[in-house]
Amino acid sequence: MTREEELPDWEGAKVFYEKYQPKEVLGRGVSSVVRRCVHKGTGKEYAVKIIDITGVHLTADQIEEIREATYKEIDILKKVSGHPNIIQLIDSYESHTFFFLVFDLMKKGELFDYLTEKVTLSEKEARKIMRSLLEVVHYLHSQNIVHRDLKPENILLDDNMNIKLTDFGFSCHLKSDETLREVCGTPGYLAPEIIQCSMDEYHPGYRHEVDMWSCGVIMYTLLAGSPPFWHRKQMLMLRMIVSGNYTFGSPEWDDYSDTVKDLISRLLVVNKDQRYSAEEALAHPFFQQYVVKEVRVFSPYRKFKVICVTVLAAVRIYYYYRRVKPVTREIIIRDPYALKPIRKLIDACAFRIYGHWVKKGEQQNRAALFENTPKAILLSLVANDEIM
Ligand code: ADP
Ligand code: MG
Repeated sequence: MTREEELPDWEGAKVFYEKYQPKEVLGRGVSSVVRRCVHKGTGKEYAVKIIDITGVHLTADQIEEIREATYKEIDILKKVSGHPNIIQLIDSYESHTFFFLVFDLMKKGELFDYLTEKVTLSEKEARKIMRSLLEVVHYLHSQNIVHRDLKPENILLDDNMNIKLTDFGFSCHLKSDETLREVCGTPGYLAPEIIQCSMDEYHPGYRHEVDMWSCGVIMYTLLAGSPPFWHRKQMLMLRMIVSGNYTFGSPEWDDYSDTVKDLISRLLVVNKDQRYSAEEALAHPFFQQYVVKEVRVFSPYRKFKVICVTVLAAVRIYYYYRRVKPVTREIIIRDPYALKPIRKLIDACAFRIYGHWVKKGEQQNRAALFENTPKAILLSLVANDEIM
């Protein structure tokens, strides 16, 4: 990276465009656009984050701030380079008007989009994602780096569905005993102590524990399909966060284990000193399951046992299906949310409309979202054979 004073105005941009061909937009931020790009020499695909510092709508101070923040982002990305769960910075270029940060391309996109498509994840899938996330956060904290913007939009997925943490734009290298006071991050994921900093000028500040709170919010959201703290009015949502006011509501949490709820409740702790660290979270019983790889030797006795179990299961399934009652219109009208395929359809529709679940206070659950929806819509779907 060559600094500003050593560069003609356009040099960095020229070198970038000589080497790479930018393509379609993959994502956007406040002052950046991420595009797919192709390396002209090799034909290999990458993602380029183009940070605009043209300053049409920015003051000189703001431009300088973005420039400094980008140097910091590049610095941290270089420091953490090579970690399997962190996005790899390949190249960076700077001109007076733009920064170009070239990364490995993550074709599967954001964890957020994956969650939107799946609505909720199983404990097994959440375990895999959370283990990698906590390992990467543990690594960052051991390097005294705090990320400050952990959320599903900043977690990308590679071709094998492994996570790659990205967007180190708010990351900070902490000196020992240094505390931060700056209010930054994304509202729903903000730790209570960050919000308290903005309300109390004598607050001692915050450190890396804020990332652990965000991990708790992410984990809750992956399983419930809705965030733990949400209110139409942002001020009320921030109040909920500061008082740690969230619940494992029904029916979203009915099928999840107490173990997983226990871990979440140890991350969403308002008192940062009592909140789990990444290391403590990784040692929680939730992560102790499914780690022992059993070596199975198929002896004749084992083979016989497997055959017996399979036959018994087949008989059970047969009798179960004989007992199943047909789904009638009356049943659908009475309690549509109780039927799994219809519940899935409702959930998918809600996600299309809202992008996320919307909870309006304690009394409501996801099913309540549809209380205002005329049942006629459901019935018309039934009539069109769309869900039967
Ligand atoms: P910002 O700081 O503007 O939020 P990010 O670095 O988070 O910028 O990138 C914005 C979005 O661009 C991401 O949320 C993601 O959708 C997309 N994106 C970023 N990097 C990549 C990448 N390497 N591969 C694929 N998509 C990416
Ligand atoms: Mg981002």
